[in-house]
Amino acid sequence: MSHIAEIIAVGTELLLGNIANTNAQELSQALSALGINVYWHTVVGDNAGRLREAVEQARRRADIIITTGGLGPTYDDLTKQTICRAFGRELVLHPEIVAQIRARYERNLHAPMPENNIRQAELPVDCVIFGNPVGTAPGCAFEEDGVHVLMLPGPPFEMRTMLEGYAIPYLRRLSQEVIVSRDIMTFGMGESRIEELLRDKMERMSNPTLATYAKPSEVRLRATAKAESVQAAEAMLSPVVSEVAAALGDIVYGVDVKGLEYACVSGLRARGLTLATAESCTGGQLAARLTAIPGVSAVYRGGVVSYWTQVKADVLGVDAGLLDAHGAVSEPTARAMAEGVCKVTGAPVGVSVTGVAGPDRDERGVEVGTVYVGLATPEGTFCRALDLGRRRRDILQNLAANHAFDLLRRWLNGLPLSI
Ligand code: ATP
Repeated sequence: MSHIAEIIAVGTELLLGNIANTNAQELSQALSALGINVYWHTVVGDNAGRLREAVEQARRRADIIITTGGLGPTYDDLTKQTICRAFGRELVLHPEIVAQIRARYERNLHAPMPENNIRQAELPVDCVIFGNPVGTAPGCAFEEDGVHVLMLPGPPFEMRTMLEGYAIPYLRRLSQEVIVSRDIMTFGMGESRIEELLRDKMERMSNPTLATYAKPSEVRLRATAKAESVQAAEAMLSPVVSEVAAALGDIVYGVDVKGLEYACVSGLRARGLTLATAESCTGGQLAARLTAIPGVSAVYRGGVVSYWTQVKADVLGVDAGLLDAHGAVSEPTARAMAEGVCKVTGAPVGVSVTGVAGPDRDERGVEVGTVYVGLATPEGTFCRALDLGRRRRDILQNLAANHAFDLLRRWLNGLPLSI
């Protein structure tokens, strides 16, 4: 039987926008992996009346209700009391939990436990107790008329620890299905064109399903299968992934790969090559994205952010006459930057970006969105000239960086360099 879950996050701070509801995000991810459908996220303040309304509504439309927050010792922590009232359950004091909380207080805070904390040891009658090894408030779960209610603490680290240690095992016993997804990552084709190519297939599919998720500069296709085991779901997914990859061709840069830079690092490793970067309009984004990958020092030597024309000349050795004749944003400059950074660092492969990120044209009148990506390799130097149009500065920078990585991964994999 498939389950329907609702997550109720309790906390006025969430409604005021002081904090983001990351607990709901994490819970949704965990529930989805368990094959449990999450149909609603509800957020309610520290208010007993409105929490009661939310709980009453949730029990009419879901058979799993998970709350986070409001398990603390203070007067505005009302989750347990309110839920017990809604479900007609008594709260029972657990002396052994009082003793645990008292011991924890004395050990960690070297202070006697305030009497308020006793409330945290009160739990609904006949519940499953979820221990809290990293905080004071225990969580719990009970079942009433086919509805399972799980209460978890608000602090994200405590929530996560309890979710992994107690809530997931509890839920796993209720759910017979797992959901497994594969992300097919693409760069170089718009979402609508991809949908056009795959529409028939997407419409016909119900399990696995296929959906597109577009970011400003790339499109992810997610294939998702529901089955009784991970192995069975994986077996259902693999033909779908192959078919989609065949239909889309070389715009697919990987499956379950986190980003284009990861595909580049794998390609560099496979070919035993090292890389250097020379950046102007991306301001170090290539370097930052590469160095966020653990172990990248095996293939990445370093980079230069040559923002001023003078720095392109002095540090990268771009010829002053070439800069004068063609300007900093030009194909010859992009090529010379890539070659220059190879010389400076000794790397056999260099990638460069120079362009106008806006909001205004450059001093030579080059239009916003004009970008040149250079690639110097032992086989020669290449360039991709782009007109990315007028877009927000950060989006242009991100897109320019993606083009640089795409050019590199295409060369590394022996694919046509143009898209
Ligand atoms: P405590 O025992 O610390 O009082 P609690 O279970 O009563 O815990 P809250 O008091 O509601 O939880 O929240 C404690 C803190 O946890 C909040 O100040 C906030 O920083 C964080 N928090 C609460 N709910 C969420 C949420 N849904 N997403 C992310 N962080 C949250």
